[in-house]
Amino acid sequence: MSPAAGQPVAWPAHALERGAMATIDLDALQHNLAVVRERAGVPAMAVVKADAYGHGLVECARAAAAGGAPWLGVALPTEAVRLRDAGVQGRVLTWLEVPGAPFAPCLERDIDVTVSAPWALAEVLDAARALGRTARIQLKVDTGLSRNGSTFADWPALVAAARAAERDGLVAVTGVWTHFACADEPTHPSVERQLDVFGEALQIARLAGLEPEVVHAANSPAALGIPAARFDLVRTGIAMYGLSPGPAIGSASDLGLRPVMTLRGRLASVKRVPSGSGVSYGHSYITQRETTLGVVPLGYGDGIPRSASNAAPVLAAGSVRTVAGRVCMDQVVLDLGDDAAAPGDDVVMFGSGGPSADDWAAACGTIGYEIVTRIGPRVPRVHVGGAP
Ligand SMILES: *Cc1c(COP(=O)(O)O)cnc(C)c1O
Repeated sequence: MSPAAGQPVAWPAHALERGAMATIDLDALQHNLAVVRERAGVPAMAVVKADAYGHGLVECARAAAAGGAPWLGVALPTEAVRLRDAGVQGRVLTWLEVPGAPFAPCLERDIDVTVSAPWALAEVLDAARALGRTARIQLKVDTGLSRNGSTFADWPALVAAARAAERDGLVAVTGVWTHFACADEPTHPSVERQLDVFGEALQIARLAGLEPEVVHAANSPAALGIPAARFDLVRTGIAMYGLSPGPAIGSASDLGLRPVMTLRGRLASVKRVPSGSGVSYGHSYITQRETTLGVVPLGYGDGIPRSASNAAPVLAAGSVRTVAGRVCMDQVVLDLGDDAAAPGDDVVMFGSGGPSADDWAAACGTIGYEIVTRIGPRVPRVHVGGAP
């Protein structure tokens, strides 16, 4: 079930007694996925790494698949294995492995693994031989991010080795891909340079005889802002979660994206204090007049950034307030002025009906990605919607 527009999700008992919850609107996730797909004009890989950016790995993966994403993307092989072991079908790509990574469990579960270096190819080949099956691999080329991926210099040898293994029936190269450094600044000169290098890398792969099913390069900002980067598939994370991929691409509302996570709390303590009261550790906030203070049971132990102290907006008692004083491990304080408030009242930290996670990011000097991804396991997730 999905909440009617503007209607907040009801508090289940376990969240009510905890005093905090993150509602995850899977209808919004499917809507955002459709926005990306329509804008890009190609299918989308739903990126669900890092517990789906804090939204819940398996629930989001299922909703994305039901919403028409033919591919799921995760960083770690263990995340891919978790998806399969939860019964999630469809194609799954993983891309960040270390030596000794669980390649064999990935192969056994029909997971496509990314190969960026000869050692990884060697480990995949060992697993393929041991299991007697053909491994599906995708080759990643570093076109200028200088992070993971084969250097352009090493690329021809990696391609040749992969092609030889393909001839031996040990692997099928299902994709060739890269990742941008500055996709959130579409006019940054590196974007065109990376596209040029990628074009050459693709040429080398094709001349060697590779015929990948999918060629892909775009993350959310590129999917929405760089038409030349779309190829066969776009890999979308942040836009699917309803947040802006960067100011140069547009705000979430400009892009027609809806927030998926809404973080809410219930007031634990409500009390009148005199003017001149120092609030929270260090007394970095002093009340300017007699006022009502409210305590929300969410702190940095729950992933609320400490940099939200005296900075981040919260909707409480009918108005948006700034966090008063320092964020503590378990709690934050709000100055509610003379507005009516009682213990147990609902506040919206960010999300639907309140400030956005992007507003929090601006207030805290970070990006929306970090705001949602850091929300920790002490905050119950309540998933709604997401039917096929
Ligand atoms: C995280 C990630 C993405 C998704 O990026 P968004 O900006 O959240 O869309 C895409 N590709 C790779 C390789 C990633 O690591």
